[in-house]
Amino acid sequence: MKCSQGSNFLNGELKQFGNIELSPSAGVLNYGQGLFEGLKAYRKEDGSILLFRPEENALRMRMGAERMCMQSPTVDQFVEAVKATVSANKRWVPPSGKGSLYIRPLLMGSGAVLGLAPAPEYTFIVYVSPVGNYFKEGLAPINLVIEHELHRATPGGTGGVKTIGNYAAVLKAQSAAKAKGYSDVLYLDCVHKKYLEEVSSCNIFVVKGNVISTPAIKGTILPGITRKSIIDVARSLGFQVEERLVAVDELLEADEVFCTGTAVVISPVGSVTYLGKRISYGDGVGVVSQQLYSVLTRLQMGLIEDKMNWTVSLP
Ligand code: PMP
Repeated sequence: MKCSQGSNFLNGELKQFGNIELSPSAGVLNYGQGLFEGLKAYRKEDGSILLFRPEENALRMRMGAERMCMQSPTVDQFVEAVKATVSANKRWVPPSGKGSLYIRPLLMGSGAVLGLAPAPEYTFIVYVSPVGNYFKEGLAPINLVIEHELHRATPGGTGGVKTIGNYAAVLKAQSAAKAKGYSDVLYLDCVHKKYLEEVSSCNIFVVKGNVISTPAIKGTILPGITRKSIIDVARSLGFQVEERLVAVDELLEADEVFCTGTAVVISPVGSVTYLGKRISYGDGVGVVSQQLYSVLTRLQMGLIEDKMNWTVSLP
């Protein structure tokens, strides 16, 4: 789908996956005007296909486009493009319980611009790929390390939207952490360096008794759709959920820690290394993580009643 500045997106077309042509002075290449989304399609036991909350991804992309001075498709255009792409690729949606089809909508400033300014034209693309577990550990616990020097987001910056530059910012710390055997990096706020923010590609939750706490959305962390869903699921199960500043010291007292995201779903955290000290959360998967994982994944796969109306069925 294409759009010139100020005008509506045109109807898109389905094409075979392949390279695209861009001007060397495209806004996305020169000034980072790029946003992406990630969502999944699951196959139900009866063979039909479910999308999980696609309109939430559409709304988040629109919010990001506003921050990045980009034109963006409407919620309906976004959802229709996702549905059309998945429908054309039904055969790639794995059998029920064997993985999912990852859907990657991309919005970019494709028009040429030499002086610093928003691009004059935008392109919206959706592509898909079947996926298994994001972390090789699957539902087994992951090991995080807290980063002290490098930050992924600053107050007033773009950390709260899903723009491509945020991911470029984490590559160095993430690669160094992986080279040392960690699964990923946990970031702290860059002002006080004492409050939890998020992991490179997922949100973080800390469990203490019946209370589940997660950093509040305040512009430097991504408002995860899995985060939002897990908050509702946890409350419906009787947990008290707090969205607030979560100090790094709370990791020492926590019963369980877990991450949420479209790709990771729920990943229990086995340990967090902070200032060279390893804080461990036992060998197995915590009971709260296990319970939330079970409800969310069964909902996404259509195995339990969708009381929240979160899933969208594809004919
Ligand atoms: N934080 C970051 C930085 C992410 O890239 C993601 C993945 N989109 C998330 C959190 C989790 O968001 P969601 O649950 O919408 O996938």
